Amino acid sequence: MQLEDLQALDRRNVVGSYARLPLQIVRGAGSWVWDQDGKQYLDLFCGISVTNLGHCHPRVVEAIRDQAQTLIHASNLFYTEPGIRLAERLSASSLGGKVIFGNSGAEAIEAAIKCARRAKPGGSVVSLEGAFHGRTYGALSATHQEAKQAPFAPLVPGFKVAAATADSIERAVGPQTAALLIEPIQGEAGVHVIPTDVLQAARAACDRHGAALIFDEIQTGMGRTGSLWAYQQSDVVPDAMTTAKALGGGLPIGALITGERLQDALQAGDHGSTFAAGPLVASAALAALDVTDDPELIFRVNELGEHLRERLAALPGVSDVRGRGLMVGFDLEQGDAPGFVERALSEQQLLLNATGPSTVRLLPPLTIDDAEMAEGITRIATALAGHKPG
Ligand SMILES: *Cc1c(COP(=O)(O)O)cnc(C)c1O
Repeated sequence: MQLEDLQALDRRNVVGSYARLPLQIVRGAGSWVWDQDGKQYLDLFCGISVTNLGHCHPRVVEAIRDQAQTLIHASNLFYTEPGIRLAERLSASSLGGKVIFGNSGAEAIEAAIKCARRAKPGGSVVSLEGAFHGRTYGALSATHQEAKQAPFAPLVPGFKVAAATADSIERAVGPQTAALLIEPIQGEAGVHVIPTDVLQAARAACDRHGAALIFDEIQTGMGRTGSLWAYQQSDVVPDAMTTAKALGGGLPIGALITGERLQDALQAGDHGSTFAAGPLVASAALAALDVTDDPELIFRVNELGEHLRERLAALPGVSDVRGRGLMVGFDLEQGDAPGFVERALSEQQLLLNATGPSTVRLLPPLTIDDAEMAEGITRIATALAGHKPG
């Protein structure tokens, strides 16, 4: 189908909740996607850090194909091996407690909130200014952005906001706090790294008041920032963390991974989900973890990330390059990031993302090779040279 016809069909039939870019993607392989005419695009966005291993990674495809021919669904009323083995892998690779699964990032956040409130009944949930935790009511209530929250009031009670400073966190967290929710690097806000001293203050405040420190690693996890989990780059260990996006190798899955302290907070009957960690998605996630949890791949993510940030910082018109590993953001001195991203798409066949009026975000595949990275940087430089806002 041609793009114009698909756009008309979309307008008539799909609720208009997305501002889509004018590209139909029909196929993907590695760092590349193709449109209906066979035109090839370099993907430095990875579907918001979902296809971290590139499109249709052979190990993920093989795991999905094998499992699809064996058993697709059974429900959580029975035992199936892939989901339980996945829980073991996730726990052993991080906080050492138990895991509860859902089908998305927002659902992992819901599980986190329920888990923390079960541990401290009636307690409040503190999250940070600029944070994004998802669109369901609990997750939205922790996402303190006027434009996202206001149309849907009243929200869930008991949610509070703090600025991303030690002072503000110390004031917001008290004896009635059940959870403090933090993205170690705020992704949707434009790739803002929360400084280590702020994370340390958060840990201390939670310890002082018996609150759960929960990291939202839905975007930062699965190798994206140059370690399997972002928290591993600081000395701050949360009581629980959420993961989703890249976990399923492209299939939908979310998880709350707890440490020892919260591992038995939720009990039989407290929470559940029909699809959660079914055999198909769990097999894909095990394959994705096999490929991602590899010191060589992680080492390359750091090297490539450093190189990318250096090269971006040297480009005229670029300021404040930031991020860790291959989670990278920068500002355009002339603004109009959405216009820049659209022109990079139409003129350079390059997939990027604008998180705000002047911020561009890059989430390249962790498997990108040197030549593809060089090509990406060249295309960004060319797009920048022609960037004339308004
Ligand atoms: C994407 C994201 C979410 C929400 O995940 P969904 O799968 O869209 O529900 C929550 N937190 C962070 C940090 C995210 O990046």
